Amino acid sequence: MAKQVKYNLSEKDIPKDWYNIVADLKNPPPPVLHPGTGQPVGPDDLAPLFPMEIIMQEVSAERYIEIPKALRDVYRQWRPSPLHRARRLEQALDTPAKIYYKYEGVSPAGSHKPNTALAQAFYNKKEGVKRLTTETGAGQWGSSLALAGAFFGLEVEVFMVKISYNQKPYRRAFMETFGATCHASPSTLTEAGKAILKENPDSTGSLGMAISEAVERAVQRDDTKYALGSVLNHVLMHQTVIGQEAIKQMEMADDWPDYVVGSTGGGSNFAGIAFPFIGEKLRGGRKTDIVAVEPAACPTLTKGRYAYDFGDTAQMTPLVKMHTLGASFVPPGFHAGGLRYHGMGPLVSQLTEEGEVQPRAYHQTECFAAGVAFAKAEGIVPAPESNHAVKAAIDLALDCKRDGTKKTILFNLSGHGYFDMQSYADFMAGKLKDEDFNQDELAMALAGLPKVAAE
Ligand SMILES: *Cc1c(COP(=O)(O)O)cnc(C)c1O
Repeated sequence: MAKQVKYNLSEKDIPKDWYNIVADLKNPPPPVLHPGTGQPVGPDDLAPLFPMEIIMQEVSAERYIEIPKALRDVYRQWRPSPLHRARRLEQALDTPAKIYYKYEGVSPAGSHKPNTALAQAFYNKKEGVKRLTTETGAGQWGSSLALAGAFFGLEVEVFMVKISYNQKPYRRAFMETFGATCHASPSTLTEAGKAILKENPDSTGSLGMAISEAVERAVQRDDTKYALGSVLNHVLMHQTVIGQEAIKQMEMADDWPDYVVGSTGGGSNFAGIAFPFIGEKLRGGRKTDIVAVEPAACPTLTKGRYAYDFGDTAQMTPLVKMHTLGASFVPPGFHAGGLRYHGMGPLVSQLTEEGEVQPRAYHQTECFAAGVAFAKAEGIVPAPESNHAVKAAIDLALDCKRDGTKKTILFNLSGHGYFDMQSYADFMAGKLKDEDFNQDELAMALAGLPKVAAE
């Protein structure tokens, strides 16, 4: 039987800096606009939401930003994360391709999200913040921020999309174990939540709604700030430890990926693995094809418009230019809750527009089938979100089999699925359906995009 191969780095290989791809972009990123005035925001406009060091990272064009030593000391608990060669999967597929995966499920919360949760908690603590509010979809982000709150001594309040809150009681227990408070969103605790419930008392919630609630709570109190788990530049940058380590590990393997693949919700784990490889290419170095994989039921990159939009339903966040399905769009319920967001990280969107990223979309049942095949071969049950990357990696490997080409594929296994076994049970019982988004609702949400002078 094929042996599984592991490329382990040692502690000294934990990156000393985050990589900021803004320094290497062909075009400067479009400005972030104030939701009221439509004018570019300055750092002070964002101060009610974020600590100043995070704001400066958000607008930075420096190529490298140093990772504080105290934070690297926490990363040491699980970083560098392992890179595996998936030999048994290659054998099962009978492909000449080589498949590698970077495994972020070894973090204490089981996904890549602590890479940024801990960084955000660190800077908030440093600037005297006492409480953080946030939203969570499937629960991974809330879990990661809850963990970070426990490590750095911050109170954490999580608004969890109601459908997940009801489906995933263990997620809530996990967050509460770390001392966080968790509310089902929409809730009656905020004006935004009350307005949504007035219109639709049975609303099952969305990330856009939960963000509105978390932002509203944060701006109400001086000792409270807000933390976002994806989309924004600083969040994507914090994840680049993944790709920087992967580059070293590919070199250890004496190999280089022809393809780098990641699943995309708001773009953070994708950016984490892909941006260091894209940067290498943009600086004239080694080339790699970059594949972003999204759910066909929430196809932001493949069916959305590249336009200014709000990050939330109640239109409280700044406007960013990104691929969007419209802030009022509520995707159908499917099991990769972490991918159910109407927008996409502006940097991922821009790189897609500039042709550096090839997006593709898959339905959930084919992704679960890929996840089951991966689990049988490699012994890890992937998160439903990660299954999108698994599916694309398997498809690329099967293309190689058909064409007889020996390509190297690297994908990010962004997390494990051990809190998501109900979705696997449903899949195996044949209960999962491939729902399409509603075309009319999408058209309506896109028609409602804000009109912005800067476009
Ligand atoms: C949250 C999550 C995602 C999607 O979010 P991104 O910001 O796009 O990475 C993907 N995989 C896992 C395991 C997640 O927890």
